[in-house]
Amino acid sequence: MSNQSNDSDFYNDRKYCDQCMDYVSYLMSVDCSFCVECGAKVHLFSKTDWIEFNNSLQERRPKGGRPRKKGKESA
Ligand SMILES: [Zn+2]
Repeated sequence: MSNQSNDSDFYNDRKYCDQCMDYVSYLMSVDCSFCVECGAKVHLFSKTDWIEFNNSLQERRPKGGRPRKKGKESA
């Protein structure tokens, strides 16, 4: 059994707390999650990360509505 922690796991176990202004361990509730440090609601991303996340989504969206069909005609 390997108990190594890699960096990609870090954000899986943590969410962003506005109060602590950091990614923290959290408690899961039905609707939301809470910081184990201060009890405030935590978010999946910090505000800046969230904005960046949305920006990257919009950039990925193809312009002109319909997605282009790729490749040749296929039977
Ligand atoms: Zn907190």
